[in-house]
Amino acid sequence: MESATAARTEANSIEVRDPATGSVIESVPVDSPEQVAATVARVRANQPEWEAVGIEGRYHWLGKLRDWLLDNRERVLETMQRETGKVRADAENEPTYLADLINFYGARAAQYIGEESVRPHTPLLAAKKLRIQYRPHPVVGIISPWNFPLILSLGEAIPALQAGCAVVVKPSEFTPLGITEVVEAWKHEIGGPDVFDCVQGIGDTGGALVDAVDFVQFTGSDATGRKVMARAAETLTPVSLELGGKDPMIVLADADIDRAANAAAWGGMMNSGQICMSVERIYVEGPAYDEFLAKLTAEVGRLRQGVDGPGDPKDVGAMTSPRQIEIVEDHVKDAIASGARALTGGKRVEGPGDYFEPTVLVNVDHSMKVMREETFGPVVGVMKVRDAEEALSLANDTPYGLSGSVFGERERAEQVARRVECGAINVNDVLVNYFAVGVPMGGWKQSGIGTRHGEGGIKKFCRSESLVITRFGGKREPSWYPYTKSRRRLIAPMVRFFNARDWRRKLGLRR
Ligand code: NAD
Repeated sequence: MESATAARTEANSIEVRDPATGSVIESVPVDSPEQVAATVARVRANQPEWEAVGIEGRYHWLGKLRDWLLDNRERVLETMQRETGKVRADAENEPTYLADLINFYGARAAQYIGEESVRPHTPLLAAKKLRIQYRPHPVVGIISPWNFPLILSLGEAIPALQAGCAVVVKPSEFTPLGITEVVEAWKHEIGGPDVFDCVQGIGDTGGALVDAVDFVQFTGSDATGRKVMARAAETLTPVSLELGGKDPMIVLADADIDRAANAAAWGGMMNSGQICMSVERIYVEGPAYDEFLAKLTAEVGRLRQGVDGPGDPKDVGAMTSPRQIEIVEDHVKDAIASGARALTGGKRVEGPGDYFEPTVLVNVDHSMKVMREETFGPVVGVMKVRDAEEALSLANDTPYGLSGSVFGERERAEQVARRVECGAINVNDVLVNYFAVGVPMGGWKQSGIGTRHGEGGIKKFCRSESLVITRFGGKREPSWYPYTKSRRRLIAPMVRFFNARDWRRKLGLRR
């Protein structure tokens, strides 16, 4: 098979494949750097009008997009399945999440980015009125990966558009079709203002977008994230980076073992394990280990893999990127060569399409890639640990810090969860933090910079402007010229009076 990466670097067009069958389904022209610059310039010209429409006016348009997503759900799901090879149930998360997100930010934007009034912190500023207004970055560039083509592109475009920015998305070269369909609908079916577009390509297109925009929202690997940040540094363009993970799950001895095993199976295999927050490493306290492993293996062994549609559901789909299935294969082979054992799965599925068998590995340790590097496939490694302290020390032994989960008696599990070094943690659940859009989601360490969701998820697309407004004042302020002795005699006692915290000093009775 030709290398997908090589086929994608030189060309003027991208061949989009259906990973479930391997067949080419569409060819998409690549945008040159000049075309990227022209697209950004066009939406930039329309942005001031979009900003002037106001929060409610923009929610009106985003509400139309929500309705389109709901009305065209089947069409959206089919495109998602075709370009990613995911099963229907995994594709269903995309429109569901996006409709919810539009309503979330539509209802809260005024609270999150509306003008704020601040009381002066000292009587010395009593004559001033203090305000903060949040003005959008004119054009936001969104560079997104292939694992959730709409959630990770449109899911950032929604708060950016709601904030008043114009948006240009560069989707992954593996999955350009879904976001293109949405952008076309925005322009031609919804008739939305011309402030939302997408451009196609790989590094050259992504780099050109970084050069042209005012804020970069990147989701992808830490390797590309570094390149994007370096490129953005040349123009001092701010970035938010949502990068990879190696999420741990800790199972304490007092956990509900059925729930923990079912959660591990779903959290590890959902979307074929191609989620930044997939469960990749599991640490189980000794007394629970055998029961947990038996139940996890049974649950994973029952999963049905393959292509599905609206009827006849399957559980685990294909791997979207041919490059990724090679990484998964490499991690599993490396582990087995070093003494690990696959209780289920362990290899690529023979036949058409890119499928890797749902795999549970034991006899693993932190010398193996599968426990240290991001696998991003349907593979979990399970280790028995002495106690919660050992689980925590292994869970935190990683350069990543995106997310994780702890299962156990609620209070104890919560205490352990608070000590996992990551941006978002679940207690007695997995992956659900992504749908709790009221709280921030972002990575520690090499998992990223910045957050999405919650207040920060829309504020990041704005610049704050502080207004210090003089309500009253004479011809001169006491701090202005000329500097005189009498002014000094006036100011010194005032400074002492307002800053001292004891009455003797306030009144100048003590030096
Ligand atoms: P990737 O880094 O290979 O590509 C991401 C995007 O960057 C793509 O659109 C790609 O075309 C583009 N790109 C490539 N080179 C570029 C360059 N030089 N300049 C600008 N853009 C460039 O990642 P991927 O393989 O598409 O996605 C998988 C990765 O994404 C995994 O590491 C996963 O953990 C991560 N991810 C993170 C989150 C999160 O929220 N933290 C969510 C989903 C996926």
